[in-house]
Amino acid sequence: VSVDQPASPPLVTCPVCEREVPDGEFCGACGAHLVGDHPRAAQRPHAYAANPHEHVLNLNAVSTLFPHLPHRRSTPFRLALAIVVVALLALGYARLSAPSIAVAVLAVPLLYLLYLYEVEVYEDEPAWVIGLTLVLGVVLGVVWANFTGGYVTHTSLLTSSLQGASTDRVVLAGVVIPLVAQALMLVGAVIIFSIRRFYDEALDGFTFAAAGAMGFVLGTTLVDLLPELHSGWISVAPPVTNAMRIAQRGLLIPFIYASTSGIIGSALWLRRGRCRPVPVIGWLSNLWVCILAAAIVQVGLGLLTLFVNGQARVTLIYLVVAALLLLWVRVVVHVCLLSEAVEVEIGPDVPCSHCYRIVPRMAFCPHCGVAMRSAPKVGVHRTGRPARVEGK
Ligand SMILES: [Zn+2]
Ligand SMILES: [Zn+2]
Repeated sequence: VSVDQPASPPLVTCPVCEREVPDGEFCGACGAHLVGDHPRAAQRPHAYAANPHEHVLNLNAVSTLFPHLPHRRSTPFRLALAIVVVALLALGYARLSAPSIAVAVLAVPLLYLLYLYEVEVYEDEPAWVIGLTLVLGVVLGVVWANFTGGYVTHTSLLTSSLQGASTDRVVLAGVVIPLVAQALMLVGAVIIFSIRRFYDEALDGFTFAAAGAMGFVLGTTLVDLLPELHSGWISVAPPVTNAMRIAQRGLLIPFIYASTSGIIGSALWLRRGRCRPVPVIGWLSNLWVCILAAAIVQVGLGLLTLFVNGQARVTLIYLVVAALLLLWVRVVVHVCLLSEAVEVEIGPDVPCSHCYRIVPRMAFCPHCGVAMRSAPKVGVHRTGRPARVEGK
């Protein structure tokens, strides 16, 4: 042992998991908050495992949908997301058909691809794995929207007419079609789940399922909105109505579908590896609970399309659903990261991806409590070998 090697912190026994861990704010093995008098220190709801500066129930879309993104590199993404929101509302308000359709179709999926590139989630893997998931989603979305779009629109017109729609029609358009759409969004992720066995972390499942959903939404939005170009460069809808509609298509729907698919993907992958139960909140990441939640959301929004009129009311409901789902995603990501920490060893000293302290590599940073599995998959935090310079 040379003199200039940093002294390892003394070991203490974690009162939650009863393992010998380095003395610190958090248990490196189970993630429990050891210092201070926090209620539910084991589940640590005040310290989201992918970004411990935030509460688990914090409506931050970036740290929710981009869980691998280190906190210090998240500012450009928060800025970009804000610009997307403003652009969608402004172009929608100005009723400029072509630009608003382009932004609504492409902005969020492109941001997601930028995120995957930025964190190099799968640097060592051929790009086609993630590309395939997204492209497959686009193809399925285009085909599906071509098949069903007209039927749903026609049923919606019937329900608001005096004549009404038959029960069979309502069940098909409001229940069956949305459920099949949800299943199609997951096709890419399920294929990867069954053939690429070495993606073994719950966040992998989230990434693939969300990518499939983003692609699917891109395809359906393209097919649904493109015909509007035939009616000219300026949309005929009133400005405020049009702004809400474009924001719903370009932002809320991708968020909702990425969330419903992401929780199913995470829950599916979580069952692959070994994991320990997380009391009180663990059931929220149960596969069947996640599938049920996604199904309820899909059917609820499917029936909403048929029976609720008024753009303001519809957009408000989408906004509430998107917010609730973001919270659910955070709980699922948090639970997955906590429950995947089994048989943790005290590794070599490495800089933490979140707080940049030099800490022993474990499931959680003993200093800030960030989950190691939420760090980018390449680089010193995960593999012990340096990738590129961090923190720039
Ligand atoms: Zn512990
Ligand atoms: Zn740290």
